[in-house]
Parts: sequence; C-alpha cells; structure tokens
Amino acid sequence: MTTALVNPATGRTFADVPSTSIEETDEAVARALVAQREWARRAPADRAAALRSFAGAVDAAIEELAGLEATNSGHPIGQARWEAGHVRDVLQYYAAAPERLAGAQIPVAGGLDITFHDPVGVVGVITPWNFPMTIASWAFAPALAAGNAVVLKPAEWTPLTSLRLAAIALEAGLPEHLFQVLPGLGPVVGERLVTHPDVRKVVFTGSTATGKRVMALAAEQVKQVTLELGGKSANIVFADSDLERAARTAPSGVFENAGQDCCARSRILVERSVLDRFLELLEPAVAAVAVGDPLDESTEMGPLVSRQHLSKVEGFVPAGAPVAFRGSAPSGDGFWFPPTVLLPSRTDRAFREEIFGPVVSVVPFDDEADAIGLANDSPYGLSGSIWTRDLSRAVRVSRAVESGNLSVNSHSSVRYSTPFGGFKHSGVGRELGPDAPLAFTETKNVFFAIDDAPPSTPSPSTTAPSASAPSEETT
Ligand code: NDP
Repeated sequence: MTTALVNPATGRTFADVPSTSIEETDEAVARALVAQREWARRAPADRAAALRSFAGAVDAAIEELAGLEATNSGHPIGQARWEAGHVRDVLQYYAAAPERLAGAQIPVAGGLDITFHDPVGVVGVITPWNFPMTIASWAFAPALAAGNAVVLKPAEWTPLTSLRLAAIALEAGLPEHLFQVLPGLGPVVGERLVTHPDVRKVVFTGSTATGKRVMALAAEQVKQVTLELGGKSANIVFADSDLERAARTAPSGVFENAGQDCCARSRILVERSVLDRFLELLEPAVAAVAVGDPLDESTEMGPLVSRQHLSKVEGFVPAGAPVAFRGSAPSGDGFWFPPTVLLPSRTDRAFREEIFGPVVSVVPFDDEADAIGLANDSPYGLSGSIWTRDLSRAVRVSRAVESGNLSVNSHSSVRYSTPFGGFKHSGVGRELGPDAPLAFTETKNVFFAIDDAPPSTPSPSTTAPSASAPSEETT
C-alpha cells in the first residue's frame, strides 16, 4: 500500500510513499532493540561525536531539507530553511548530553548511594504534519543522546523530511537501525508503536483527541508518555502597552505556518478602551502578510496542508461569520485560505475551539481580572503573550495564566534551550531544555552497604600462597 503525497500549493500529487504494515513495524522495533543495546554500550564521547556528525550532516543538507518541506508541507522556503537549521541546533545542543548525563551521589547512613540514568530502550515518536522536522528533532535528539533507539512515525501527509533525516543520520555514521522512520497510517503504525511491549516510551504530538487515545493505550502497559497537544492561546493586549508594536507583530503570532501551529495566539484579548485603535493598527498589518508560492523567497504564509484541512478551517468561517477584515490569498489550485480576523462573541465556536488555520478572534476585556479569566476559560494551556509596560502587571498576569509557555511583549514560544509543553488538555510532560534527555531515562538508585570498620589486616604469612600450594585452576 502507498500514500500519495500532494503539493499543497498546487493540489497535485508529486510522490508516492509506501505505508508500513504492523508486521514491518514489529520488525523495525526488533532491529531497534538490537541497535540500542550496542549504542548504549558505546563510550559517551563516541555517542557525542556521532551526534555532532549528524548535526554537521544536517547543516550540509539545509537547502535540500527546506526544499522538501516547502513542496510537501507548503512551508515558505525561508521558514523551512530556518526549521532545518533548528534541527541542526537541537542536535548540536543535545550532542553534549551523553557526556553530561550524570547521576547523583546522595548522602545516606551506612553506605554509598548512587543514582544512574539508564536509557529506557526503544522510544516511539509520533509526529504531526504541521512542523514535521522540528517537532521530530525535539524527541529524537535527546532520546538518542540518552542512549535510546528511536522509531518515528511521521504524519501520513508529510513524511519526506523525516525520511531524509533518518538517511542523513546513517550517512553521518549513526548505527544502522538506531533511528528508523516508518511512514504509514496513525491507527496502524502509530497505534502499534504505542501498544508494542518493547517500545518503552512514546512521544506524541498532535490533536488532543488522538493524544487521549495514545495515553489510554499506553496505560495498558504502564508506558511512559510525553504528549504535546492542542492549543487556543491568548494574546493579551493591555491599554498601557506599545500598541503599535503589539498590533504590528500580532499577525506573526498567529498566522505563522498559516496558523497551523499549536502555539498560535488565536485569541487576541484587547482592553476595551483601546479596541478600536488596536483594530485600526491591525488591519494594515494583516493586509501586509505576503501569502503565496512557498518557493518564492518573499512569501511569509503558504497554503494549508491539505484539502481536508482546508474544509475544516472553512467550516469555522461560514457565510455570515463576524469577519472584521481579511488579508489576501491566491485563487486557483492549492489549499489557500486568507488571513482572517473575526470579532466573535465569547461563546462563539471560533473563539473557543482550535481552528489550526489563519483565523484569529479579537475579543475585548474590561480589566486585569477579566483578562485572566478569559485567558483561562479554555481547556487548553500551551502558549500565550502579554503586552504591557507595567512590570508588576506582567508578573501578576504571567503567574496567573494557566499556560506552559508565555512571553511578555513578544510572540516567541520555542527555544531549544528552554522547556516547552502544556498545561491542562495541551499535554503531559515537557520537551526541550537542559532536562529533556532525562525524560528518556529510568532513574536507578543503587545503595552499596559499607562496613564502618575495615577488616583486620591479615599477616602476610597467612595469605601468601605457599610455593607448593595448588593454584585455583588446578583444583
Ligand atoms: P492527529 O492527532 O490525528 O495526528 C497526529 C499524528 O498522530 C499523526 O502522525 C497521525 O497519523 C497519528 N495518529 C492518528 N491516529 C493515531 C492513533 N490511533 N494512534 C497513534 N497515532 C495516531 O491529528 P490530525 O492530523 O488528524 O489533525 C487534526 C487536528 O489536530 C488538527 O486540525 C489540529 O486542530 C490538531 N493538531 C494539533 C497539532 C499540534 O501540534 N498540537 C498537530 C496536528 C494537528 P496520520 O497522519 O497517519 O493520521
């Protein structure tokens, strides 16, 4: 069986990729198990060198990876180049981990107590279609660094960069079968990775609905999971903020990757007294978003990933929807949807549900308490921004908003050196940051009993073997 890959900018099929079966998934896990044991036995410096070499090979392939992502996923070429560079940086960052993943020596009575961080073994990684390369690297780089093997199932629609990364790893000298990519269907390959007894940890990124299923299936085997799920993040704009900057940058906070971003600030909450002025400033910023051919260097926003996803996004903006204004989008073939700003009510579906497209809702609030209440009135808690010049307010609000990643006077969400993950239905566990490799280990504690007093030293005449005594081998 194969999957036809469609270029989202043209709507035309450009490649076919084989779909992995359950039997082939099992064979891949068996190979990974063997490769992992050999990898974990290698000297830490050797594993670090192999990961640095992998990072170097990704660096040399940035143009190739960016071109694949632009064609397969519709990402603007400049953005796709940044993503490939990010994968290199993530690998370089975690290449230090094999030599730094140290246990502890803990003071206890009666002996010596040491913790070890053992690799879990084989890690299953299931990735979504929105950021295929970067999200994969957040799992495979720290997992490999901690001594594990990785079997990765990319999203059905966007497997090409992951397949290429596995080939690059091999070319760079990583052991065969240590990092395998299995294209195929979620309910087949993905679900088999979750239920396979030799896969000891699963990292899943995708919808909250599928994440719940993954968690329930993993529970059957008491298997570790990290889940990065949906979001409906708030961008809170107070009247005392630099309103021009907040409005000028708001499109990049939500329309990046055509809004197919779990961190998209898709709810803009604006203090009522400055709502009209904010909208006046936002309109030209939305109109200025360059939507078009992903291979054009000046493009800032490409098409949606698929016809199916385009229909889903269109369903959130039916005829008569409270559209304030829209940007432009090419007409014709391809899965195009223009940047769209809605002025909905607080109960509107578009304001409450994850759309995962270039649609943002602007809703006014009355005071700080109202803003915090609105921001938290969501099952999600992944990301968000707070715009204010008042430092005390910035601290108060950032502490009160239930979200894993907030930025003040900025729309930044992800840095490989800081932890990333969600509250509530946005996920379980954290990726990235210095502690990520630890999430791919089991902590083992060993207590060595030590006698306080040394045994009395025997006299040399009682221990030295006599010349005539038979050796151990001959007895
Ligand atoms: P899914 O959550 O279904 O897909 C994410 C990944 O999980 C894909 O690799 C998918 O494979 C796989 N998968 C699907 N079913 C199973 C299963 N039973 N067991 C194991 N793995 C499985 O997301 P969709 O692609 O269907 O997107 C639906 C919505 O989810 C989007 O509209 C968006 O709202 C949200 N989403 C959120 C993301 C985020 O980063 N938070 C990312 C992607 C989507 P396959 O591709 O073969 O289906």
